[in-house]
Amino acid sequence: MSSKKNVDITKTLQDAENSRKQKYYRKNVGFFKLLEKIKLWPARSGVLHGIKSIKITSNTAEITTFCGESFLVWNSRNSRASRWLRNKLSFSACGKCKIPDWKIEKYTATMMTQKWGSGL
Ligand SMILES: [Zn+2]
Repeated sequence: MSSKKNVDITKTLQDAENSRKQKYYRKNVGFFKLLEKIKLWPARSGVLHGIKSIKITSNTAEITTFCGESFLVWNSRNSRASRWLRNKLSFSACGKCKIPDWKIEKYTATMMTQKWGSGL
């Protein structure tokens, strides 16, 4: 039971922000393309899930996570994910998806430099 606990990655996010320089995805990289690349999805609850598969159609993507969730997302530059990171809310990583640390670091570094639809 305890092995399924979510992992607090707030510290990781802060570290990533402190050393922002890494990967820089150009602004016009599509939201789905980015998801396809980082294979991580921040759920509404603030929990990061690993993406097992992503099926992209023109305007939507069907995402299946490692812990068995499946849902449809719309292509949006104003993503909830990027808003959250800009607002520096805390995140945790899904214990069932078993996301490796390097993936989370890659994700945070990416999210920090990518300003989806911010216009700021
Ligand atoms: Zn999960």
